[in-house]
Amino acid sequence: MKIQILPESVASQIAAGEVVERPASVVKELVENALDAGATHITVRVEQAGKRLIEVGDDGSGIAVDDLPLAVARHATSKLRTSEDLFRIKSLGFRGEALASIASVSRLTLTSRLAAAGRGGVLRVSGGVSGEVEPIGAPPGTVVQVENLFYNVPARRGFLKTDVTERRQMDALVTRYALAYPRVRFQLYHDGKSHLHTSGNGERREVLAGLYGVEVAKQMLEVSFEEDGRTIHGFISPLTLTRSNRREVTFFVNGRWVQDAALVSALLRAYRNLLMVGRFPLAVLFLELEAEQVDVNVHPAKAEVRFRQPEQIFHFVQRAVRRGLMVYSSLPQVSFPSWHSKTAPPTEVERRRPIDPGWEMAAVAGSDQPRAAGVESETDLQPTQPLVMPSRALPLLRLIGQVGATYLVAEGPDGLYLIDQHAAHERVLFERFLNQCAAGVALQTLLQPEVLQLSAADALRFEELLPLLNRIGFQVEPFGAGAFQVRAVPAWMDASKALMATRSLIEAFEEDELLFETQQETRLVARICKRAAIKGGQTLSVEEQSGLLRDLEACESPRTCPHGRPTMIHLSVDVLERQFGRRGSR
Ligand code: ADP
Ligand code: MG
Repeated sequence: MKIQILPESVASQIAAGEVVERPASVVKELVENALDAGATHITVRVEQAGKRLIEVGDDGSGIAVDDLPLAVARHATSKLRTSEDLFRIKSLGFRGEALASIASVSRLTLTSRLAAAGRGGVLRVSGGVSGEVEPIGAPPGTVVQVENLFYNVPARRGFLKTDVTERRQMDALVTRYALAYPRVRFQLYHDGKSHLHTSGNGERREVLAGLYGVEVAKQMLEVSFEEDGRTIHGFISPLTLTRSNRREVTFFVNGRWVQDAALVSALLRAYRNLLMVGRFPLAVLFLELEAEQVDVNVHPAKAEVRFRQPEQIFHFVQRAVRRGLMVYSSLPQVSFPSWHSKTAPPTEVERRRPIDPGWEMAAVAGSDQPRAAGVESETDLQPTQPLVMPSRALPLLRLIGQVGATYLVAEGPDGLYLIDQHAAHERVLFERFLNQCAAGVALQTLLQPEVLQLSAADALRFEELLPLLNRIGFQVEPFGAGAFQVRAVPAWMDASKALMATRSLIEAFEEDELLFETQQETRLVARICKRAAIKGGQTLSVEEQSGLLRDLEACESPRTCPHGRPTMIHLSVDVLERQFGRRGSR
């Protein structure tokens, strides 16, 4: 074929493909325009999941009637003049191609009025072809209607997902912008029914409830961190609140929603070894940097950014999240009965304590002391003071003994520790395995091979697992109809538990099919550790007790089990003194 310059209409459809992938991308561009125009109230109306209509109305600055044709022209923008401007962008838009792109794949109507002008104007564009501007009476602000999206690109239409999915994407998008701009009032309707309505009162947690539901929103931890002129604030989930995928992790950079794998992995890194494997946190985090520190002109839909100092940003995010987690959730959160805890701001010494003692005490005090009615609001001990992030390692502990055949009691340099023997042992086993993974799994051959007899169905499934089992240190071979012989198990586990642990693999499979899709090995091992760990209610010899303590001290994350539950409760000397009224009260 001869080389030819493409007709304008084809070129713009190609360009539109990058910006306008689906109805949610239209919503995104229009909402960003409204925000750039300084709107305080944005209304989004969608019909038939955006295929029939997407309408975004705002009360922002408006567009001069004479400028309407320019607004829908390609590379026409009011937000950028020179190429240097590209590196100090404060607005969400700057490419001047959204309206043009949308107009080339739909029937677009742009109605706008400057507040100062008496009348507004309306312009219709169909498949990229503009009509004439007509005068119209309209309230100040702008309304963009996008009808019959992709009517002239049937292929694109064919790629759309189900209405439910497309709607969910739009909901997610508008809700996220509502979170980022809590002072703007957002309304979203699908086929006339309200899906979102925010008050614009600036309360992010309120918007959060719209995104995740009230229960979850209440539990989310607020983080706020500043360093070297960068700030990060927002919400992260406590260890007890997780999802099976990372879709609920949202980052905004300078008010722009971005999809950035590095930011997400910085967050996940901060949760590493604290969550059960295969579980992911929820987060909505807002990162603010100097405009010069971010290149936003990387991606046509502006969904990706490039950082000038990616590594610093990575560590910054990781530190902020870690710190947030440690402040709030290194130990159980139960509110602390009031009368002793009405605190003056902590002294410098208290502030440097690893973990707010009152906070730690909470778990114990909350459970067996009656709550004084009416004092609750002042008693809920919110860690408002910025605390220094504690080291996660344990101090050396002196064993005192076992309680109820379930808990170990130990003394440390700063008070008393109650340790859940089962959770602690799970942690110990789990880390042993992780360490071995790095070095190669050591096996122990059983003196007497064990035989596992399974139902026909289980046997079939189990057979598929054999290679995976081998990798994590189980030597298992078929041994006649429905039977398997266990010849060796990982060296880190108690050989007498071999059969039981192997059996637990099958149960794991039944309970959780996902188990076999991602992170198989680690997830399986977490399961096995749970099985193989010492149980609650099991009396331990003094040697076993102190052995467990030593092993726990050696762990990298001794304070939680692999499933994220606490392994211990710490009663600091300070808390004991306060509880006994020796100091700090009244
Ligand atoms: P960009 O946002 O990158 O400038 P767009 O194609 O999205 O490009 O918009 C083109 C121009 O139209 C904007 O620069 C702005 O001047 C004007 N405009 C678009 N939407 C609005 C709006 N809702 N309110 C005021 N002006 C708008
Ligand atoms: Mg724009």
